[in-house]
Amino acid sequence: MPISVCPAMSESGWIRVTGVVIRQRDIGEHDRILTLLTREHGILEASAPGIKKVKSKLSGHAQLFGYSEFLLFQGRKNYRVRSAQSIRSFFHLRQDVVKMALASYFCDLMHYISPAPEDAWNYQRLLLNTLALLEEDRRDERQLRSIFEWRLLRLAGFAPNLVACDGCGAYQDEGMLFLPMRGVLCCSKCAPHLVHEETITTPVPPAVLQALRHILYAPDDRLFSFRVGEESLERLNFVTEQYLELHTNTASKALKIYKELVLPAKKKEIE
Ligand SMILES: [Zn+2]
Repeated sequence: MPISVCPAMSESGWIRVTGVVIRQRDIGEHDRILTLLTREHGILEASAPGIKKVKSKLSGHAQLFGYSEFLLFQGRKNYRVRSAQSIRSFFHLRQDVVKMALASYFCDLMHYISPAPEDAWNYQRLLLNTLALLEEDRRDERQLRSIFEWRLLRLAGFAPNLVACDGCGAYQDEGMLFLPMRGVLCCSKCAPHLVHEETITTPVPPAVLQALRHILYAPDDRLFSFRVGEESLERLNFVTEQYLELHTNTASKALKIYKELVLPAKKKEIE
């Protein structure tokens, strides 16, 4: 669909971006401020006047999680959405409260990390791939959560070193420990030297370590292609959450909501 540009405006005032709506904030009765993760310029905020009006041409193309091509006008203080054309709406994510909460958490984490504009396309690809698999139920949502979290940390340069034991270089050990504060591994032989009273340690059984290494080191095209057992998945989620809590301060409300939604379901399964 051709996008018309108002001839009275300077050409330099218009930019065309492909972006995902990672946040939205209502302003008054009809307007919204959208936060976009754009491929071209990283994270941008843009006002979307009239988007909440029934007849708005924008509303179907700029919903939360929606991936669209946007034409923005760059004013003196902010961007304004002139038009948008949906590429993928992620409509079904917004129809499921659990998926909606988890997807919102992914977007919160992305906002917290705020990728530099020159790397933004990599981050956007990770977010889009994760949202697509979540929407289509093609992976366990808990697995998707850990993949997204670790891979995002890796892109941002916050990944731990899980190649081998930090003391002796051992690759595999039944009693391998993860030291989340330092972001390193420690085998059972090296533990007496590397682990002190105040050191936080987390056992990582071989299957969990294998999953962690896959997430951190697999090429993009194989990132989501691995299976992990139920027990290992629980452990994987625990290790991931612990590391994130120690190294970031996201305080995501969406994560709190997600946990409240899934915990009662888990308790029921156990009973
Ligand atoms: Zn060692």
